[in-house]
Amino acid sequence: MALRTLETLGVVGGKTVLVRCDFNVPLSAGVITDDGRIRASLPTIEHLLNAGAAVVVMSHLGRPDGVVDARYSLAPVATRLAELLTVPVHFATDTVGPVAREMRASLTPGEVLVLENLRFDPRETSTVDSERVAFAALLTNGAAAFVSDGFGVVHRKQASVYESAEAVPSVAGLLVASETDVLRRLTTNTQRPYTVVLGGSKVSDKLGVIEHLLPRVDRLLIGGGMAFTFIKAMGFSIGASLCELDRLDIVTKCLATARELGVDIILPTDVVVASGFAADADSVVTRIGAIEATPFGSSGIGLDIGPDTAALFGELIESSHTVFWNGPMGVFEMPAFADGTRAIAKALTRVDGLSVVGGGDSAAAVRALGFAETSFGHISTGGGASLEFLEGASLPGLEVLGC
Ligand code: ADP
Ligand code: MG
Repeated sequence: MALRTLETLGVVGGKTVLVRCDFNVPLSAGVITDDGRIRASLPTIEHLLNAGAAVVVMSHLGRPDGVVDARYSLAPVATRLAELLTVPVHFATDTVGPVAREMRASLTPGEVLVLENLRFDPRETSTVDSERVAFAALLTNGAAAFVSDGFGVVHRKQASVYESAEAVPSVAGLLVASETDVLRRLTTNTQRPYTVVLGGSKVSDKLGVIEHLLPRVDRLLIGGGMAFTFIKAMGFSIGASLCELDRLDIVTKCLATARELGVDIILPTDVVVASGFAADADSVVTRIGAIEATPFGSSGIGLDIGPDTAALFGELIESSHTVFWNGPMGVFEMPAFADGTRAIAKALTRVDGLSVVGGGDSAAAVRALGFAETSFGHISTGGGASLEFLEGASLPGLEVLGC
């Protein structure tokens, strides 16, 4: 089934439209350090404003666990949104309380009202259906339509995502529609060769996506911390590198399945081994079989892929027509261990075809390393949501929009 989109919404001029965004931006001492998620929803908000709607925007920020906590206020987000738009942007200091009610009543077409953090109210994420329904009824009260534009939350069955979409006529916003479109292109009729690159810290987070994608791809490149569980499963020592011992069996099975399917799982041939987990640790490039033969012995810890691996991965990526990348190749937050991630990002910018970066840290990494967003085919704003989509899971927030 197809997602209901903005074009099917009908006339919204003079009406109030409620928009769920994912403005869960990183903050440092109250300052937004990356406004990518706010920018990503501008097209939808501007579309509705141009159509003459009054727009009420809602989002969560962090995990305040159902209580009001000033550290998680959306006030800085409203301020940033006001800078990015040319229309009046108001901010309500509650979500469904007297302040929001009054401000919604006096909102005029062409204006925006941002509600305070949805997760200040425990009903937003309640496991009790009737509580979420009740909260959604208050959120949608007076709204002619609901637009779902927070791709990062479509895998959640929460009041502002699911029950709000059931309460009034609802459609996907431009961001949710385009994210879904791109991810669908990664699962059907993909242009070959199709390469998936996985990294990051936890193999357990990525097993679902590995299992689902293995029959669909030509090769799977694995770097980052998660590679060490594979390397260990193949019988090599890994020093003090990250390893999920309870996943060794399943990882071994994965390797066997890949062999049966004729899919290449390509692991690092060399890694950067450090004396400890620190930005200024001593480090040395080492072949995989020799990790414990470095001066650091069994306390050596692999914090990045090595240059040979980066070159090999880069070649395989550049010769592909479809690439999906999730998870940094090393601890990119420390400059000494960012080279592998940088090399992979660079290779993705050279793909002749569709290149997609998914995952919160991966998206942050490419921005932090200075790559322009436009150098990639697509950068997904939703980490968990994009992985679950590629795992083939049905996402409540998309299902409710007809998908
Ligand atoms: P994403 O959010 O893109 O899905 P993950 O959350 O899976 O990515 O992983 C990101 C984290 O993985 C980063 O904070 C990075 O420092 C860490 N990481 C990558 N490689 C290693 C490694 N070799 N050892 C420890 N941590 C690593
Ligand atoms: Mg992450």
